[in-house]
Amino acid sequence: MICNEKMYALGAKRSVIRELFEYGKARKAAVGEDNVYDFSLGNPSVPPPPAVKAELIRMLSEESEIALHGYTSAQGDKGTRDVIARNYEREFGFALDPDLTYMTCGAAASLTITLNAIVKDPADEVIAFAPFFPEYRVFAEKAGANLVVCPPAEGLEIDLEAFRSLLGPNTRAVIVNSPNNPSGVVYAEETVRALAAILEEAERRFGVTIYLISDEPYRALLFDGKQATCFPRYYADTVVCYSYSKALSLPGERIGYIAVSPRATEKQELYLAVCGAGRALGYVCAPALFQRLVKACDGMTADVDVYRTNRDLLYGALTEMGFTCAYPSGAFYLFVKAPSGDANEFSEAAKALDILVVPSDSFGCEGYVRIAYCVSTEQIEKSIPAFKALAEKCGVGK
Ligand code: PLP
Repeated sequence: MICNEKMYALGAKRSVIRELFEYGKARKAAVGEDNVYDFSLGNPSVPPPPAVKAELIRMLSEESEIALHGYTSAQGDKGTRDVIARNYEREFGFALDPDLTYMTCGAAASLTITLNAIVKDPADEVIAFAPFFPEYRVFAEKAGANLVVCPPAEGLEIDLEAFRSLLGPNTRAVIVNSPNNPSGVVYAEETVRALAAILEEAERRFGVTIYLISDEPYRALLFDGKQATCFPRYYADTVVCYSYSKALSLPGERIGYIAVSPRATEKQELYLAVCGAGRALGYVCAPALFQRLVKACDGMTADVDVYRTNRDLLYGALTEMGFTCAYPSGAFYLFVKAPSGDANEFSEAAKALDILVVPSDSFGCEGYVRIAYCVSTEQIEKSIPAFKALAEKCGVGK
C-alpha cells in the first residue's frame, strides 16, 4: 500500500461505538426513530445552557465579524485563558496560570497535543486505567508511546497495587479520567491521594518525571453531591485536559483547553512543547468564536438533573432485574456486566431487541457493555420493557 497502513487501518475500520451508531441510524430509518433504544454514543441529550445561545447572538450582532472569525494567537485568546484561570481558582482555590493554558479543539485534541508534547522515545509508556476511552490507545500510539493497561479493582476502582507494579523507568505519563467513561465511576479522594503518592514515589525511585494527564470532559457532570477533583492539588506534575463538549453540550463545536500545572516540573518547557505539538499537528488555533463564547460561559453546566433522573431510572431498573453494574456518580454511562461474561454475545442479544449497547473489549476491560444514557427520559422509560425481555433472554434474575 502506498499510503500509511496504520492510518488506513484506523479509517477503514470504524470504532465499535461509531459502527453501532451507524447501524442505529439505518435501523431507525427502517423501523422508526422511537423503536430503537440507541445507547451507543456519548452525545449530550440536553441543550446547552440558555446563556450559550444568548452570548452567540450577542457576539454575532454586536461584535466585529472580522475580529470574531479571525485567527487567535496559537495558544488561544488571552481574555479567555484569564477567565478560565480565574474560574478554576474560584472553584478549587488552586491557581492555574493563563500563560500555561492552551485552548484546544476539545478533549481529543487536548490529549493528542499533550501526549505528543510528552512522548519522545519509542520505549516510552503511557498507562491508562481500564476501563478507558478507547481512543487513548489510538492517541498514545500515534504519539509514539506504548499504551500499558492497568486492570481495575473491584467496583471498577483503580487497582493501586497493580498500578504500582506497572510503573517503571519508561513511564512518561498516566491518563486518569474521573468521572469515568465508560463506567461513570468517580474516584474517591483517598484513591486520588494514593495515586499521587505512588506516582511521587515512582518519580523518586526511577529518577524520571511522570506526568499525570487528567482527562476531564465530565468534570462538571456529577451527582449525589460529589465534588469535582482538582488533580493538580494532589500531584505536581499534572496536566489538565478539559473540554466543554459535555459540560456545555457543545461536542460538535470542538472547544476545550490544556492547563499545565504551575507546579509541574519543567512547566515552561512542557508548555512550549504543547504549543509545538499543537503547531506540528496543524491545529493553528481553537475555533475563535467558541473561544470567545467560553469567556462568557466557562463554569456553566447544561442541565445535569436530566442525566441524574436517567441514571436513577436505568440503574434502579437494571439492578432490580438482576443485572450488575458499578454505581455511577458522574458522566452519563452505565457499565453493565455481561451475564455470561461474553460482551459481544450480550451486545448482540440486546441488538436483536433493538437495544444498542457497546461491548467493552475496546475499553480495555472484557465482559461488560456500556450504556450511554444521554437520551431523553421518555426513551429510557420506553426501553425498560425491552431490557426486561433482555434479562429473560439472558436468564438474569432467575
Ligand atoms: N475523553 C473521554 C473520556 C471522552 O469520553 C471523550 C468523548 O466522549 C473525549 C475524551 C473526547 O471529547 P471531545 O469531544 O471533547 O474531544
